[in-house]
Amino acid sequence: MEKYLSQLNDAQLEPTVQINGPMIIIAGAGSGKTRVLTYRIAYLMSKGIDSFNILALTFTNKAAKEMKGRIADIVGDEAKNLWMGTFHSVFAKILRFEGHHLGYPSNFTIYDTQDSQKLMGSIIREMGLDKDIYKTKQVYSRISSYKNSLVTVKAYFKNPELMEADAMARRPKMGEIYKEYVDRCFKAGAMDFDDLLLRTNELLTRFPNVLAQYQDKFRYILVDEYQDTNHSQYLIVRALADRFQNICVVGDDAQSIYAFRGANINNILNFQKDYDGVKMYRLEQNYRSTKNIVGAANSVIEHNKTKIDKIVWTANVEGEKVIVHRAMTDADEGRYVASTIWETKMNNQLPHSEFAVLYRTNAQSRAIEDALRKRDIPYRIYGGLSFYQRKEIKDVTAYLRLILNSADEEALKRVINYPARGIGQTTIDRLMVAANATGKTIYDLIKDIDSVSININSGTKNKLRDFVTLIESYKVMNQTANAFDLSEHVTKTSGLIRELSKDGTPEGITKIDNVQELLNGIKDFVEGQMELADAGDSLAEFLEDVALATDLDGDKGDPDHVALMSIHMAKGLEFGHVFIVGMEEDLFPSAMSMNTRSELEEERRLFYVAITRAEKQAYLTYTLSRYRWGKLIDAEPSRFIEEIDDEFVNIVTPLKEQRFNPMLDKSIFGDIEPNRIRFAKPKTAKMAKKKTKTKPENFEISAPKKMVPLSEAESDIDSFDKKLEVGSKVNHQRFGRGEVLKIEGVGADAKAEIKFQKGDVKKLLLRFAKLQIM
Ligand code: ATP
Ligand code: MG
Repeated sequence: MEKYLSQLNDAQLEPTVQINGPMIIIAGAGSGKTRVLTYRIAYLMSKGIDSFNILALTFTNKAAKEMKGRIADIVGDEAKNLWMGTFHSVFAKILRFEGHHLGYPSNFTIYDTQDSQKLMGSIIREMGLDKDIYKTKQVYSRISSYKNSLVTVKAYFKNPELMEADAMARRPKMGEIYKEYVDRCFKAGAMDFDDLLLRTNELLTRFPNVLAQYQDKFRYILVDEYQDTNHSQYLIVRALADRFQNICVVGDDAQSIYAFRGANINNILNFQKDYDGVKMYRLEQNYRSTKNIVGAANSVIEHNKTKIDKIVWTANVEGEKVIVHRAMTDADEGRYVASTIWETKMNNQLPHSEFAVLYRTNAQSRAIEDALRKRDIPYRIYGGLSFYQRKEIKDVTAYLRLILNSADEEALKRVINYPARGIGQTTIDRLMVAANATGKTIYDLIKDIDSVSININSGTKNKLRDFVTLIESYKVMNQTANAFDLSEHVTKTSGLIRELSKDGTPEGITKIDNVQELLNGIKDFVEGQMELADAGDSLAEFLEDVALATDLDGDKGDPDHVALMSIHMAKGLEFGHVFIVGMEEDLFPSAMSMNTRSELEEERRLFYVAITRAEKQAYLTYTLSRYRWGKLIDAEPSRFIEEIDDEFVNIVTPLKEQRFNPMLDKSIFGDIEPNRIRFAKPKTAKMAKKKTKTKPENFEISAPKKMVPLSEAESDIDSFDKKLEVGSKVNHQRFGRGEVLKIEGVGADAKAEIKFQKGDVKKLLLRFAKLQIM
């Protein structure tokens, strides 16, 4: 048997080697679903199934890349031919080949959310609608939801219920906006994110030959995180798998967290009805987390009524209990997170990448960031603005987009007067009106500026001509030059770099560095492409990657950082130590998701996802008051904290800065070390707040832990320092025996370089190293 298969348990092995037919693996977090999918692909290939015939759909492109790497380790270079990626990236590629059936050019632009929202904003303005009622973001998400339910413009106008719902929401013009938006995207040769799925569905439905061709190509289809597929994605999978029915989906209903974006949990529940003879597999052993974490996660998800009953157990160590920490404010919470990371890292010699901080809303990252920065702990925020969405980068890519597709209106509007070339907003507005009236694109109008009757003076016309000449010269260059040479040329000759250099501030310099970084990225891309036999148009492919890049893809900078991200983003990932911050009512569960049971259950699943990311230690933190919407608001601990069985949690209170600090009152506790005082678990959220504030009998005193409390260690430093010298023989809890080579610094900063008998030389901070002198 293939060696890699021995890295699977029996329950995992069964679906891995089941080659044909429809199958579903439903299993809890950390039970190896993704591993099975990965190994299954390797196995299929080892059994002679052509890599060109396998399609694997993943939640992020990063996950696809990692899986591909793992498969390549097993089967070698053949892995390169696999079609793997997110729904969006895979079907964008197919639409490049097939979009012409639907009237799209093969070099269509992909509008990212920013582009789409800008376009919607201008449509709302042009239609003279009230922008406080027609809020761009809301209009955007509404139109997105139509598209994901396959409600086209035509279908919309045939659906009185939808129209009425919009009218009730005081937005009776939604249909008109939708129509205008779709028309304008089409005219610009652009698809937005939702189009990538909607148009794929259209393609597969309207063109049976095309469908047959891809059914034949993708004989084996695998889908990870199936619980979060939306209707549009579901239909694509079903259409493609219909002929051979070799479809393997894996998922966990308890981790379905995208219902708010149209994901349909029924896709997983109904899978057995969709195909004949579905084989169903369950995996029960969790390999990721400690017993305490698995126990805590299980006990919380028990509270959901709608769920498929599952067993999740682990043979891993019991580990530490889930730590619950109460902070005063969000700043205090940040300090706790930062200091705990610092101490844990020092105590255990861990890299920063072992730690993650997860939050319900992106706004919470600020306080955490401040605290990490103060301690010089490197971190990275995922899911904020992706690198490619920064202004200076979007400006460069807008030029590139325009070179490829001069109908791309959003790109044109970005660069027509940037850097400033004296083409004012009035001129642009007039051009837009004329473009809308004539059905021509703005670029075509400018190209032919002498023969159009628009009120533009001759000076401005000259400037427009110069602009066209510039873009046309780039187009000519694009026919022969590679994407890197072209891009470098564009940044220099368009005046972009010159413009950025004018601004001598550190921010300005960072922007130039970012542009340089983009060029490096294009260079890597071009070089990577040269290795591929069937390299296509490198610029088009690069821009496609850019449009679909999420912040998780293409890690930049120092890989050793603490990861900060929303829980939604953390799906499928794992980290040694995970902090879930802001465990407060109205924040998590979110105030907006407490109206119905199903919303609340989705919040609970989100918490299940969060806690199951942790391998060794999970921390839950909440504050007593938090700044929200510019106000200091009293907070209550989240109900999810109470829902965890007592045996898996350790509810600790902060040492400092409490409203009521019984530890400081020696009449109650005498000289007992404060670290050893635990709060008894409160019965309700409300009680927790009230009681911990006022009633000292609610505390219990736990037995001293083996670990020396921080303050004790600190007070020992001076005397310890004096005994310890170069040549001292010492013993360390984890690294064993060693000899001191060097001592640096004094007091709290004192460090020793120690050569351990196991061979390593390590530099340890004495106040955490807990060395014994032999
Ligand atoms: P999630 O629901 O969070 O997506 P999952 O079910 O996809 O989790 P994996 O990510 O595949 O789980 O596996 C969790 C961890 O356990 C990974 O680190 C994986 O490498 C490891 N693992 C899975 N199966 C085994 C096994 N049989 N032996 C050892 N380690 C395993
Ligand atoms: Mg997974």
